Amino acid sequence: MAEFHYAVDADGVATITWDVPGRSMNVMSLQGFGELDAHIDTALADPAVKGVVITSGKKDFAGGMDLNVIARMKDEAGDDPARGLFEGVMGMHGVLRKIERAGMDDRNKGGKPIAAALPGTALGIGLELPLACHRIFAADNPKAKIGLPEIMVGIFPGGGGTTRLVRKLGAMAAAPFLLEGKLSDPKKAKAAGIIDEVAEDPVAAAKAWVLSGPSIVKPWDEKGYKMPGGAPYHPAGFMTFVGASAMVNGKTKGVYPAAKALLSAVYEGALVPFDTAIRIEARWFTHVLMNPSSTAMIRSLFINKEALEKGAVRPAEVADQSVRKLGVIGAGMMGAGIALVAAQAGIEVVLIDQAQEAADKGRAYTESYMDKGIKRGKATAEKKQDLLSRITATTDYSALSGADLVIEAVFEDTAIKAEVTKRVQQAVGETCIIATNTSTLPITDLARAADRPGDFIGIHFFSPVEKMMLVEIIKGRETGDRAVAKALDFVRQIRKTPIVVNDARFFYANRCIIPYINEGIRMVGEGVAPALVENAAKLVGMPLGPLQLVDETSIDLGVKIARATKAAMGDAYPDGAVDDVIFWMADQGRLGRKAAAGFYAYDAAGKRTGLWDGLAAEYPPAADQPELTEVQHRLLFAQVLEAVRALEGGVLTDIREGDVGAILGWGFAPWSGGPFSWLDMIGAARAVDLCKGLAARHGDRFAPPGLLTEMAARGETFYGRFGPAAQAA
Ligand code: NAD
Repeated sequence: MAEFHYAVDADGVATITWDVPGRSMNVMSLQGFGELDAHIDTALADPAVKGVVITSGKKDFAGGMDLNVIARMKDEAGDDPARGLFEGVMGMHGVLRKIERAGMDDRNKGGKPIAAALPGTALGIGLELPLACHRIFAADNPKAKIGLPEIMVGIFPGGGGTTRLVRKLGAMAAAPFLLEGKLSDPKKAKAAGIIDEVAEDPVAAAKAWVLSGPSIVKPWDEKGYKMPGGAPYHPAGFMTFVGASAMVNGKTKGVYPAAKALLSAVYEGALVPFDTAIRIEARWFTHVLMNPSSTAMIRSLFINKEALEKGAVRPAEVADQSVRKLGVIGAGMMGAGIALVAAQAGIEVVLIDQAQEAADKGRAYTESYMDKGIKRGKATAEKKQDLLSRITATTDYSALSGADLVIEAVFEDTAIKAEVTKRVQQAVGETCIIATNTSTLPITDLARAADRPGDFIGIHFFSPVEKMMLVEIIKGRETGDRAVAKALDFVRQIRKTPIVVNDARFFYANRCIIPYINEGIRMVGEGVAPALVENAAKLVGMPLGPLQLVDETSIDLGVKIARATKAAMGDAYPDGAVDDVIFWMADQGRLGRKAAAGFYAYDAAGKRTGLWDGLAAEYPPAADQPELTEVQHRLLFAQVLEAVRALEGGVLTDIREGDVGAILGWGFAPWSGGPFSWLDMIGAARAVDLCKGLAARHGDRFAPPGLLTEMAARGETFYGRFGPAAQAA
């Protein structure tokens, strides 16, 4: 079935309408490119056609390239994948350049005007195609998002968007759109110069423009074109490029190949004529697509993330369990956040705490959150009222009547939680699912307080709830499918990404992040310079070093978890060396950011001013410091081996969840695609060798798990053995 339709009206304007069948949003496929190419040829060859308008048959223009196609392009590129990819990309450029030249000769004579009319969102190739047209019209649709978000999934705009946007806006002005994937609504996109006009009826405006006999030569095809803001060897351009290079390397720490490649494409492209610049862009794009990091990022951050959001692990036979009325017990930090995100999703919320004052404070969180949004022009007073009208703050459990899901977020205490579960049960009906937001207590134990343990489940949010995209759903031993479906349908309603794991100490995310923090603290105890620990973490792509992370989550929480873990494990407890350091820190009153004193020092405004120099008095750095890679391997393997053990022990049942959960849950080096993708990148055999070395030098916690050793011996990869294709076989 056709993805692009072609029609010519009585005025001689050909309209090419993009309308991919069976999808709510257009995405570009290889078939689509072929059809577009053929329609352009028809329009340019037909003397009755005066010009062309390219638009969409849907409410939006396009969401971008089908990233599954990019993933496949590489696999199908034959014996010489780099060449295959480069030629594929150049083929795409050929079509776009044909649109841009529109039949003009080499003296810029002749040709037909081609305009883009965007009814709504235009992302990625959905903006790169309009950028190749001669004028871009967009509807005045404040919900529309316009931009080039490719960098977010580990690639960069490789359909000419990089070269064209830099030439249209200048390198400096294009930087936030290319390097940060910044999206704008049509009015802001016009103000930035990305699109040309905002119109009530963009198709009519585009047709009128096409018929007005406009000049269609792009500035960069004119003689004497100068790049806005200056090319690299212009004094102003020099400043821009030196600054951009420093900024990109500062932000990415050199671990994201796409950002560097983008910058190279922009810099080198700026020194040469347009058609050469496009070839350079295509070469750098190929270079990025050939890097295993981009494959892994696309797989985890796009394909698998979306699959999980669409219910890849949802019990298929259970009917829709969308939540209509949600109860939240405990209006503290987490409960208040859960109430906010549920109200944003249009769900009615009853927010309960012990005292009315506490419940009101929880509801007021939504109020202050919306006030901040209003100040920044991102929300309206009506929207705020709308959200607040959905949240009832009370101490009265009878208000829960009719709730179909209740989430408990009271103090982390088994007895208090059990008492709350019992009270909830008395107030709700027989089909209500009860969930706990506990971060450490086994779900199976908490389910003992429930009359119907099959309808009891863990729904573990991360803090701050409104920002963190992952929700970890935990099945207790008796949790049934309906509870799992309820939790997943709720997470879909609030537009977050779920993973479903089995019950075990610390579930999945905390299980992996605690050893990371502990390894950092352990090194400080051994005399490794704290700055080396923190920088090693950042240079391997972790968003926060372990010492900063424990400052953020608070040192007394670390102490509390250590005490509880020790009590549970007895003599097998392995982290005494870590406790020496954090117990000492707690004794010094250095509890982390909230006390404005931790591994870091803070100023009066609570801003970090640097690592705390007082630490050296108790834990002086040793004269001999380890190699950077040794520190990095300790920090990475501390997390990764725990992920492997979670898979081996059946806590994780799907490696996609392990990878997506790691990146969204605790920021595990996103460039790697997640712990399992990283292990596949270096190979199980090398991982086992590295682990053996680490175990010999630093202890048994690094001993390779049996599963990894077995995979090394058999030459297996995680995605080969446990990936969706292997599971389906
Ligand atoms: P908090 O101390 O900010 O809030 C707890 C709230 O529960 C308080 O308002 C308290 O008054 C209320 N409460 C206590 N007993 C109650 C009862 N019997 N009935 C009604 N309300 C009661 O704590 P928090 O940080 O929001 O954590 C809540 C839960 O979420 C804990 O189980 C915690 O482990 C878990 N959790 C916390 C985080 C985090 O980062 N803070 C992350 C994930 C999960």
